[in-house]
Amino acid sequence: MKRVLLKLSGEALAGDKKFGFDEASCVAVAKQVKVLVDQGVEIGIVVGGGNFWRGRTSEKIDRTKADGIGMLATVMNCMYVSEIFRTEGIKTDVFTPFICGTFTKQFSKDAVNEAFAEGKVCFFAGGTGHPYFSTDMCMALRAIEIEAECILGGKAIDGVYDSDPHKNPDAKKFATMKMSDIVDNKLGVIDLSAAVLCMENKVPMILFGLNEENSIINAATGKTTGTVITV
Ligand code: UDP
Repeated sequence: MKRVLLKLSGEALAGDKKFGFDEASCVAVAKQVKVLVDQGVEIGIVVGGGNFWRGRTSEKIDRTKADGIGMLATVMNCMYVSEIFRTEGIKTDVFTPFICGTFTKQFSKDAVNEAFAEGKVCFFAGGTGHPYFSTDMCMALRAIEIEAECILGGKAIDGVYDSDPHKNPDAKKFATMKMSDIVDNKLGVIDLSAAVLCMENKVPMILFGLNEENSIINAATGKTTGTVITV
């Protein structure tokens, strides 16, 4: 693969702590990304915000404001992971759809293409910049905009199952499935609106366990043990 969009769930970054950052998990991600960057793969990254805040976290706060807090949580996440990447020798830029002063650069396809040409990994922070969306939507949108070949979704769970593996020990993992199955059956694997966008724009996806050894490299090189979602 030449250009991919990697989605890191906030929960997976928090490791066993379930909140904030687990440095070892982030370093492990950085080391894998470095291997791929050194092979010439261009990588855009969307990070979730669930390790800090979700729009549904507080019912006392107006949804639009709560979603704003969620988007800012993803900015913190991207700044943190970006710095971990730099300590591992990876060049990075963090882009947001809104101005964050000197913390980030404003997103545009041209700016991203320039950064890729300089060998940088590009973080897409701040979600879509709009409330009532999610980082899954940002993932789909940015993948389409930057013309990524595939979305690699690193999650706390290692693929798509026919039932909840935490509740059913006999749950079976799908090796492959169609994006239209997710849309038609409203499977909660990714946001429905994001799945529709991927289906209409023909962006395939691989969902895998982020905390498994070499899972990002395996996903990018056709050796995943997760679920491949075709379009
Ligand atoms: N968010 C938003 N717009 C976006 C992306 C994210 O409003 O384009 C907010 C929303 O409140 C969301 C939070 O940021 O709950 C964290 O994003 P993430 O997608 O990780 O949340 P989740 O879908 O897991 O709740």
